Amino acid sequence: MSVTPPVSLWRRWCAVPLWLQILTGMLLGIGVGLVLGPDASALKPIGTLFVNTIKMLIVPLVFCSLIVGVTSMQDTARMGRIGFKSFAFYLATTAIAISVGLLVGWLLEPGSGLSLEGHDLSAEVKTAPSVMDTLINIVPTNPVAALASGQILQVIVFAVALGVALVLIGDHGKPAIKVFESLAEAMYKLTDMVMKLAPYGVFGLMAWVAGEYGIDMLLPLIKVIVAVYLGCALHILGFYSLVLKLVAGLNPIQFFKGISNAMAVAFTTSSSAGTLPASMKCASEYLGVNKKISSFVLPLGTTINMDGTALYQGVTALFVAQAFGVDLTWVDYLTIVLTATLASIGTAGVPGAGLVMLTLVLTTVGLPLEGVAIIAGIDRILDMARTVVNVSGDLVATTVIARSEGEIDIAHYNADMETSAEM
Ligand code: ASP
Repeated sequence: MSVTPPVSLWRRWCAVPLWLQILTGMLLGIGVGLVLGPDASALKPIGTLFVNTIKMLIVPLVFCSLIVGVTSMQDTARMGRIGFKSFAFYLATTAIAISVGLLVGWLLEPGSGLSLEGHDLSAEVKTAPSVMDTLINIVPTNPVAALASGQILQVIVFAVALGVALVLIGDHGKPAIKVFESLAEAMYKLTDMVMKLAPYGVFGLMAWVAGEYGIDMLLPLIKVIVAVYLGCALHILGFYSLVLKLVAGLNPIQFFKGISNAMAVAFTTSSSAGTLPASMKCASEYLGVNKKISSFVLPLGTTINMDGTALYQGVTALFVAQAFGVDLTWVDYLTIVLTATLASIGTAGVPGAGLVMLTLVLTTVGLPLEGVAIIAGIDRILDMARTVVNVSGDLVATTVIARSEGEIDIAHYNADMETSAEM
């Protein structure tokens, strides 16, 4: 019997497509986590290392690619139009997402039967920033500080302004534009290299989550988990597919294949900001979206578009109302839609941010904040699903807007993944 030498096994593993490597890492991680239990947290550092490496890319990638995107457009009216389209698309899809969340929460009643009225659950409540503060703070008083502290919305504002100024000064701007073009290319290459580490990072993160939560802890709250996951699946497979087909005339299956790597990174890292490099890679490499569009629409979406977070807030607000026996009126439902849509603009694309914003939604409709304590116990599990929706929503917007601007290469979009990566 011949034994396969490890070197050749390694070569075969390297030849496996990245998405399959990531999926393998995820499944192996779950298996190892369930077997090891809490001891699996020893594997978390592998995941943290991956997350740190990917985070390292965010600020320089967004900054350089956005400047390149703006300067390559040369047309400020067009930029304004794309900005307006993105904003309108993001707000509309978020409002629909939260309605899906409310509908699922209303139909499945995840909180009924828990009867928590009168229970004292000391919630650790953090305060969410107000919508006004978020709006005022989008202009950085010090762009270097914004870059250093990774304030993406502020970085976007500064990069767009700098890009416009570089175009307006004509020939004087060309040397600087060349530098940013070269840096942006280097950042794309670096993203490529870092994504090769994804299967191992994903393995470490999944082992930790599966080991930490196990089956026992999840059972009492299984209904709310099912409701959030079902809502997310409906929104992605139903609503996004419809939008892609009807608004952009594109094949949704090709789309989901093309973004599968970004979805896997979103699921395991629970951070849409952290997934941004992977999303940018998927948009240009697999969906054929021109970088001019993706370098602007994607970072903007990462910061202001949170369909999954809004959907989760709809489900969990209803869960809390049902668990504490509070009857909601139609005005309350409307208030939830409005608050969650606005709150999602101010939600950072980092793990757990949606839980903080949940306090804002619960407070606005007068629901007990103790609900946050119950949800906090399983929030990571819910965060994984909602982050996938957040990231997919950004990519849907980018694709639809690119299509409307004639900035998508349809042959590239329809090619299979291995071929399109080489295009
Ligand atoms: N983790 C989510 C994201 O990064 C935000 C949230 O907590 O809802 O998109």
